[in-house]
Parts: sequence; C-alpha cells; structure tokens
Amino acid sequence: GVCDMRRSERVCRISAPCKINLHLRIGARRDDGFHDLESVFLCLAFGDALWLRTLPGAPAEPDCLIQMQGAALGNGGNIISRAVSLFRERTGFKHPLRIRAEKRIPLGGGLGGGSSDAASALMALNALSGASLPLEALEDMAAALGSDVPFFLRGGACWVRGRGEKLEPLPAPEGLRVVLVNPGFPSGTQAAFALLDREREKGPPVDCGVPSPEALKAALGEAPASWPYHNDFLPVFLAASEAASQRAYHGILRDFKDLGADFSGLSGAGSTCFGVFTQAGAAEQAAGVLKKKWNFVQLTFPLASRAHAVLQ
Ligand code: C5P
Repeated sequence: GVCDMRRSERVCRISAPCKINLHLRIGARRDDGFHDLESVFLCLAFGDALWLRTLPGAPAEPDCLIQMQGAALGNGGNIISRAVSLFRERTGFKHPLRIRAEKRIPLGGGLGGGSSDAASALMALNALSGASLPLEALEDMAAALGSDVPFFLRGGACWVRGRGEKLEPLPAPEGLRVVLVNPGFPSGTQAAFALLDREREKGPPVDCGVPSPEALKAALGEAPASWPYHNDFLPVFLAASEAASQRAYHGILRDFKDLGADFSGLSGAGSTCFGVFTQAGAAEQAAGVLKKKWNFVQLTFPLASRAHAVLQ
C-alpha cells in the first residue's frame, strides 16, 4: 500500500509493532556511556498504530500536533516529535502535520514501543513526503533517535550488535505463539543499565559458557525448548530489584514453565516477560490463566517482515 497522493491533504496509517529480546548479553560500559550488546530481536504482530496527515498550506506553528491515545502514554509523543524534526532537517520537508498515535504497547516494558513509534513515523514520512530515502538514510536517522529504533525499520528477526545499530537479519521462526505479560510497573532502561554496572562492580561476572554468535544465530531455527538464550538483566533483577518486582518476575516465569511454555524470558531491560509456545492451544490456555492474575496479557506471534507496513 502507499499513501494517498491525489489529494492535497495526504493521510497515512502505519502499524508500530513491538519486539522482544529472545537473547540479550550486555558488554562493558563504553566511553560514550552506552554498552555494546549482543541480542536476538524478534518483531511481534502486536503494537501501536500511527495516523499521519499532511495539511495543505504554508508551514505554520506548531508544525506538528501529536495526539496520543491509549493507556500507556508517558512522554511517547516526545520521540515521535524528535523523529519528525530530524526528518524535516534532513529532507527539507515542511508541510504541517497532524499525528495520532494509538498506544497499546506498555510504557517502560522492554517492548520497544517508543522506538517502534519513531521508526514508523520515519517510514510514514518517507512515503508521505515523496522523499523516498533509501533504508540506509533512514537507519542513520533512526540510530540518532535511540538504540532500538534502527531494528524497527526492518522488523522480522535480527542478530543485533553495537548499541543496537548493527543489524543482521535472521530467518524469522514460524509457527510460534508468544504470550506477553507485563507486571504493571515500568522498568527504566537507564536505571537498569546502572544497576547492572553496580552489580558487576561487586565481583567478576560468572562465566557460564556463552555459546558463540554462530550457535546463537543458528538456534533460532531450532526448537524453542532447546534455545540457549539468556537475558543478562534477569539475574540482576531477581537478585537486586525491589522485592515486589522480584516476586512478579519469579511468579510469571514459574507460571510460564508450569503452563507448558517451550521457552520463557524477560524482554529488554524489563519489565515485560514472555513465553514462547509451539502449541497454539497451550498458548491460548496459558494466556487465559495469566489474564486472571495480570492486567496486561497479550497473545501474539512473530511478524516475519515489515513490507507493506505503510497503509493508506
Ligand atoms: O538509546 P536509548 O535512548 O534507548 O538508551 C537509553 C539509555 O539506556 C541510555 O542513556 C543508556 O544509559 C542505556 N543504554 C546503554 N547501552 C545501550 C542502549 C542503551 O547503556 N546499548
């Protein structure tokens, strides 16, 4: 699909899917304050939606009105407006804009909601403006907006390195169901990295025999029950976060095991936990049980590609 270019007022709808990190290893803190990471990102068929409208006429103040709708608002409008400003700066696109963001992805949940909104805004603006920049130019803008933003221009499954900007597409796994459970509290990314650094200063990290990047990439094509994936934040949260958070993570991950998940883990720097199921029936049943305990429970599946993401 493409945006409607026939009218002077152009309208565009775009999805902004969430992601989970099936695997997340964090390296040492770099001089620029960021951490090198190694991660397996997986895009899911659940997320926010953005509506963008260009208004005819001369540039006006404010040049972009952003309306946020939904439960998890936070300052999510912020990264969208930064995306718009950066796109205007790089392309000279001046049309006044209205953007409506329908938020469904929990805020501070490790699902990349704000990052996905920003990536989708760039993709939609690229279509709306007629600029038709190549992916590399959008990736450059995306990396300037946030570490997780470049991934969302591609979606699917990726092996991710650097601070998040080095992307290697992987074949997305097929036939899986994913259940997301958010425990109802946000987890700040910056605070989580700081906690990880503090815990590591207390003693040398335990070397638990990390599989090679090749083994980690290949594992995505194997049965989830045998995935060697791991999230460095999880042991830190289970040992050093608030008692209520520790109880929530323990409880959700134990429930996933009891409910027959083939794999379960924590996404990003928290707070959302996920279970991966090869049996659709087991996933539905698990989602039903978990919904009685937690407010945010979502049954979804991996989204293989972001092609045709921009709809009229
Ligand atoms: O890039 P982004 O704005 O999403 O990062 C938020 C914060 O998370 C950074 O300020 C930094 O403290 C931490 N971070 C990090 N290493 C990364 C990504 C994020 O230390 N690779």
